[in-house]
Amino acid sequence: MRTTRSAVISVGVALTGIIGAALAAPAAAVDTEPTQKPRVSVEYFPEPGSEGRRTEVPVNTPTVPGRSAARSMAPAAGTTDGEVGQLSVTGSSADRLDVVIVGDGYTAGQQDAFHTAAAAKWAAITRIEPYASYQGLMNVWTVDAVSAESGISGDPTADVTKDTALGSYFWCSDTERLICADIDKVASYADRAPEADLVIVVSNSTKYGGAGYSGLEAEGYPFDGVSTLSSDNAQSSMIAAHEIAHSVGLLADEYTYDSYGTWPGGELPDINSSTFTADRMAADRTKWYRWLGETDPTGGTVGTYEGSSYYPFGIYRPTANSLMRALNTSDFNLPGREAMIAGFYREANALSSEVGTRGAILRTRHIKVSRAELSGLAAPELRWYVDGVRVGRAQGLTAVVPAALGVRADGRTHTVTVESADRTTSIRDPQVRAEATERLTWTVKASGRTAPNRP
Ligand SMILES: [Zn+2]
Repeated sequence: MRTTRSAVISVGVALTGIIGAALAAPAAAVDTEPTQKPRVSVEYFPEPGSEGRRTEVPVNTPTVPGRSAARSMAPAAGTTDGEVGQLSVTGSSADRLDVVIVGDGYTAGQQDAFHTAAAAKWAAITRIEPYASYQGLMNVWTVDAVSAESGISGDPTADVTKDTALGSYFWCSDTERLICADIDKVASYADRAPEADLVIVVSNSTKYGGAGYSGLEAEGYPFDGVSTLSSDNAQSSMIAAHEIAHSVGLLADEYTYDSYGTWPGGELPDINSSTFTADRMAADRTKWYRWLGETDPTGGTVGTYEGSSYYPFGIYRPTANSLMRALNTSDFNLPGREAMIAGFYREANALSSEVGTRGAILRTRHIKVSRAELSGLAAPELRWYVDGVRVGRAQGLTAVVPAALGVRADGRTHTVTVESADRTTSIRDPQVRAEATERLTWTVKASGRTAPNRP
């Protein structure tokens, strides 16, 4: 579901500001790209399991001498170039968070290998909670991109160049593990899927690497985030799991740079980063105070641990480690998990019905509702109400008739409401609980056959 992500953009802008200021000197020193190309913030992880780093890169792939810069966007004849596949489609794009996976460095004869890699990467991501429990709120599409050559530039060594559909390359900004891609080319392929909220580029390589682009909506792209990762390195899936959390959960990075010193600003809007210590949080009932002292999936206890949002001092994170700090754990902490679930419900609807709610319906009309399939952490519950009064015996039903719920033929207008709530214990914030509670209400004309003209 495409929504205006003002919150994401504001986080991206704030980050870019901080990073831009901090990197101004070194960025100028290493900048060998033409200055007219727009630059965007990317995050990368220098080694498997490591903490992240951020830098800025051009959105387009620099032209390689001797190579054609402008590859034809027309589908290559006799290939599956541009073909859309359904890896996991659980509902209408209007009601789902749509993820699009595009392959790079796969030739016409290697598209099966791309599909195998895309499925393996998505399976690895959805082994992580809360992706695992809430994957029913997501659609996953694949788009075939046929490359002239197999593999991507910079693999195995920096001097290797490949002519590929998306122009992906290791050694972006002189950083071996940083895989950049040409975002215009990525967008042209992602656009073939019904909708792209998030894009993952899987590069045909056994070498560890990847990146996370953010703030792309501000550059005019229809999606905000792109994750790149290598296909045949088991550790690379964690990069996408981390990057999606920025876009969907609006989570901040919990890692630090030694050189940054003490946090210079005031309190941040970020869910998982705060200038407040635990005592202050508890006293003011703010930030992650509801989780303080709880045993966390990352193995520790939720508290306030100094060092977050790149600054080692004066700012705190909820747990010693988490997926937002380093990729050597596959768990979000409890505040992060709740934020992810909030994001899923912000981007998707668990409840839908083909019976429209605009016009009035008859009391004999069959109402069917469908609910996203949720599992694990989720605790979905369906309740029915007539004129706001709960009908206990209808709990859990996905098909009802208003008359059977107790709407009488009394000539009056009534309402029938279905409410889908998520009672998961992974939500403690009432605002998030409200986000995870969805309702559909029908107006029922109860004039019926027996009393058509009563006042
Ligand atoms: Zn990050």
